[in-house]
Amino acid sequence: MDNVREQIEFDVLFVGGGPASLAGAIHLMKLAKHRGLDLEVALIEKGANIGSHALSGAVLNPIALKELIPDYREAGCPIEKDVRGDEFHFLTGTRHYKVPFVPKYMHNKGFHIISLSKFVSWLGKAAEDLGVNVFPGFAGKEVLYGQDETTVIGVRTGDKGVGKDNAPKANFEAGIDILAKVTVFGEGPRGSLLQAISKKLRIFEGKMPQVFETGIKEVIQLPQTNYFSNSQGNDIHTLGYPLGLNTHGGGFLYEMKDNRVGVGLIVGLSYQDPMLDLYEEFIRFKRHPFISKVITGGQVIEQGARTIVTGGYYSIPKLVVDGGLFVGGSASMLNAPALKGIHTSMKSGMLAAEAIVEAFSKEGFAQEALSCYEQLIEDSWVKKELYGGRNFTQAVSKKGLVKFLHLGAQYLTGGRGISDRLPIEEDYKTLRRLKDVRTDPASVYEKQAYDGTLFVDKLTGVYLSKTQHREDQPCHLIVHDPGLCVNECFETYQCPCTRFCPGNVYELEIDDKTGEKRLKLNPSNCLHCKTCDIKDPYGNITWSCPEAGDGPRYAVV
Ligand code: SF4
Repeated sequence: MDNVREQIEFDVLFVGGGPASLAGAIHLMKLAKHRGLDLEVALIEKGANIGSHALSGAVLNPIALKELIPDYREAGCPIEKDVRGDEFHFLTGTRHYKVPFVPKYMHNKGFHIISLSKFVSWLGKAAEDLGVNVFPGFAGKEVLYGQDETTVIGVRTGDKGVGKDNAPKANFEAGIDILAKVTVFGEGPRGSLLQAISKKLRIFEGKMPQVFETGIKEVIQLPQTNYFSNSQGNDIHTLGYPLGLNTHGGGFLYEMKDNRVGVGLIVGLSYQDPMLDLYEEFIRFKRHPFISKVITGGQVIEQGARTIVTGGYYSIPKLVVDGGLFVGGSASMLNAPALKGIHTSMKSGMLAAEAIVEAFSKEGFAQEALSCYEQLIEDSWVKKELYGGRNFTQAVSKKGLVKFLHLGAQYLTGGRGISDRLPIEEDYKTLRRLKDVRTDPASVYEKQAYDGTLFVDKLTGVYLSKTQHREDQPCHLIVHDPGLCVNECFETYQCPCTRFCPGNVYELEIDDKTGEKRLKLNPSNCLHCKTCDIKDPYGNITWSCPEAGDGPRYAVV
């Protein structure tokens, strides 16, 4: 197939159509014009459209947007609501307590509540208007290296029209080699290409582990008269129920326009209980009396799931290699205590653009020429923000009350706390054996009643994410040793993939007569959240990119 592979050459290629890449591409075009440089810039995105795979809270701190597009409101930036008041609630099983102060990192008044999907779609149009060649429906499948085997020279996009048996079908289209002098990787959390580069060029060597949280989010259509009609607070965060002291995370409710609300629960993947079911926890959260009061009378109109990278400053990889830079979530650019990463991701893309323009002025694209990007990050407000929360996730991941000791110390010492570089385990190592956690796994969750309107089951949730995959293609979820799943993993953890996957992709089938077990996969349900790739306790699952254009088709989350 290689001899028919087409090659296209650009000056700069952005991989991924999220806020980091798009802000980077827009800033690059503006800077290049200002400097009189004529650059050919391309951006590829695996989703069917720009925004199809974008899902976030999302409260946008507009600091980077103001730098990028100062007249963003007049330019039609899709803002759902401005934050008029923050609220912070602690939930117990049946009650809620409004905390009299909001932690300083979460002061969002004046920021914007957005749909990330709509926002990046708007940024995509802005990039196209400036001359960026935007290609949705193209997934980077492989990193291309020069003859020295270390210089990144572009990416190969995935083939299309391959059958389940890996053989080309009648409509086969070979992937394209997109070559570029500089490639910017902004794939988002757990990027497949970033992981491949990491193995080859060891960009995470000496760094703290990248750690993750998974968020499940819905947009709910509310009645015309609803909780927000009389509430000053339209940016609400919660702590506590349904998560206990040993599982960190929290909930959020953001008012959106047209009487809608974004509701979500984020769970740290450092949790220990193998019976924890992320989706069931989300539904329990929604059933809490306080949350129920906000969403009463509503109807779920969209649902999705995604992981976020919360390791923070000490887990930022080496940001530059020969011919390549890393931006956004995949490069750990998220302010964890503020629960915000869109503005920091955008700024990282913009600083990458500044480094690229310098490199083009000197016509050198090796690591030394691009490395001013790392210094630009260090000198920017991104560093300041991330450095302040450098031990935050590591503290909240501690079990029991000791986390509050760490958090208090960090609050008083500008983030340093009791121990700088507070240790944390990688998420896949934290599950405890079932027999050490509970004696009766069957009693974990009461059977939930779903009404199909305000409370929808997992499969309806997948339907509401508009997820689609072409059925006749190789399975993009690689279970390296299926025997390990039904033997050792079942015995030790009862196959936690059947519970941490919010898309019901993994099912354990047990033959009534023989007792034989089989792990059944439903890859077409996959929401591309990457939780399985991160949390599987044996590292037995690898998420790979399916045919480009497949996956969720988010429009408003
Ligand atoms: Fe997420 Fe993996 Fe399930 Fe897909 S299969 S929805 S990536 S956990």
